[in-house]
This record gives sequence, structure tokens and C-alpha cells, in this order.
Amino acid sequence: MPPFWIRIPLERMTREQWESLCDGCAKCCLHKLEDTDTREIHYTNVICRYLDPYSGRCSDYANRSRRVPNCITLTPKTLDDPYWLPETCAYRRLAEGRPLPEWHPLVSGDPGSVTRAGHSVLGRVVTDAEADDLELHLIDWVR
Ligand code: SF4
Repeated sequence: MPPFWIRIPLERMTREQWESLCDGCAKCCLHKLEDTDTREIHYTNVICRYLDPYSGRCSDYANRSRRVPNCITLTPKTLDDPYWLPETCAYRRLAEGRPLPEWHPLVSGDPGSVTRAGHSVLGRVVTDAEADDLELHLIDWVR
């Protein structure tokens, strides 16, 4: 039988299945600038101050929307037009009918495969408590 992320549409997944789709890359926690004409997203190496620098997970996940009002809670509805998420994000890929990458923990069976494949932001970011002008922090290594 195919794995659940192939068989079950996003809107019918259990909470546990839904949460397991996140690979922990933390790219979505990077501050970004958007060209409002082209919708092109420009990533910075500035990360939300609530990101746990060791786990790559939000340190206050339950209260993230209250702490950071522009933190978007991912739901099937907010994935209607997921252009603002990184290309590799499992939620975006499934919403766009694409497969998970081979380094995704659900596929590889190993959470460390995200870092080995170069997709974790840990170790190459500064927090928004430390950073200044976002335009001085633009990067080109997020895919
Ligand atoms: S970009 Fe997607 S896979 Fe990566 S941390 Fe954010 S929600 Fe999880």
C-alpha cells in the first residue's frame, strides 16, 4: 500500500500525519521580502527569534500566532496558493501534486537526512533580535 501522504489528501490527514510532513528545515521561519508585482520571494538569513537553534522547531509552537502575528498557520486552506513557501516544503509539494524529496525524513526514515542534504537553515542564520535592515541579509541558498 502507498504511504499515507500519497493516499490521503491533505484535508483528510490526521493531526499526527499532518505534523509529520514538516521536515524541520525551518526555511519558512526565515524573514523574506516579496516583490509585490511579480510575487517573487527573496529570502534573508534572518530567522524568527522563537526558532529553537538546536532542534530547528518553534520554541513556542502552540502560541506562535499570538507571539508573531504574521506567522501563518499552515492549513489546507492556506495552501491554496503556496508560492510563498520554499520549493522543498512538503506542504507546498503535496499541495502542488509533487512527491516528497528523497531526503524527507518520512522517505529516508532519518531526520538527519535534511541536514545532510543541505536543507536545514541551522548554523547559518541570525535571529531577528540581532539583525538590522533585512535588505542587508539577502541570501541565495534557499531552494
Ligand atoms: S518550510 Fe515546510 S517543511 Fe520546512 S519547516 Fe517550514 S513547514 Fe516545515
